[in-house]
Amino acid sequence: MGKIIVIGSSNTDMVVKTGRLPAPGETVIGGEFLMNPGGKGANQAVAAARLGGDVRFVAKVGNDLFGKQAVQGFRRDGIDTSPIFTDPQAASGVALISVDEKGENCIVVAPGANARLTAEEVSQALENAGAGDTVLIQLEIPLGTVEAAVRLCAKKGIGVILNPAPAQPLPDDLFPRLAILVPNETEAGLLTGIPVTDAATAEAAARQLAAKGVGHVVITLGAKGAYSFDGQQGQLIEAPHVHAVDTTAAGDCFSGALAVAVSEGQDLPAAIDFACRAAALSVTRMGAQASLPYRKEL
Ligand code: ATP
Repeated sequence: MGKIIVIGSSNTDMVVKTGRLPAPGETVIGGEFLMNPGGKGANQAVAAARLGGDVRFVAKVGNDLFGKQAVQGFRRDGIDTSPIFTDPQAASGVALISVDEKGENCIVVAPGANARLTAEEVSQALENAGAGDTVLIQLEIPLGTVEAAVRLCAKKGIGVILNPAPAQPLPDDLFPRLAILVPNETEAGLLTGIPVTDAATAEAAARQLAAKGVGHVVITLGAKGAYSFDGQQGQLIEAPHVHAVDTTAAGDCFSGALAVAVSEGQDLPAAIDFACRAAALSVTRMGAQASLPYRKEL
């Protein structure tokens, strides 16, 4: 089994519940306050580790309490944190989240150290990585760092899984260097201009992305499951029916699980089924990292 090297963000989510969201310039007195570890990179690293992956996490935090707490949490999940850099010039990433009674939210992210993870640091972290390892990466770090990481992996023969979240346009030369691209409906829509809502529109979007050179496209479709396209053939892999209570981090759980199954050498349909089962379990529980399942629960 190869290593899973997750390259991405680590944040502390600061959540305050409120009767209603404030208007610009207004102060409202809120309710309960919660502080949770988050960030797409961190969530995906934790998901992969809990599901049995041999995980290294490449990230950057500030020299502060939030960063230290985050790293301690990763270690408790058995993640190799040796490639986490500490930047004395920056604060660790935070997300300030207000949630009203209807579940509507307002989020401001201060990326802090995440925005300062460089191509050189990623290259250093990948020094001992090689074919047989799997790199899993998202877009909450600078795009230039993502591009450099993908190029380096292509040179070393390392398979890259890219979860292109949050949605943003990508340079054309990135696509042929990806083993698997895992967008959700919004991201697939932004990358192709096709509004993706079901298996038929996912197929059209996946064909377009495959034509740009991606090895395999997997579009997540929420409760409908995931659409898989290998360049020739496509299929919808249905999600198990569950009672969903909180879908936060469902996409992160899916990507982390997919990386585990791929690193174990499972074929793509089996790997996607594994990812659907893990993500379905995560939506039955509240929270982001708190909802991520362990292998024995599947
Ligand atoms: P989020 O932003 O909420 O983390 P996302 O938009 O990135 O999620 P989705 O496509 O909503 O990603 O969900 C990812 C995967 O999680 C789906 O492909 C599916 O396997 C699983 N999933 C999501 N919602 C449900 C649900 N209600 N029931 C079962 N499985 C679900």
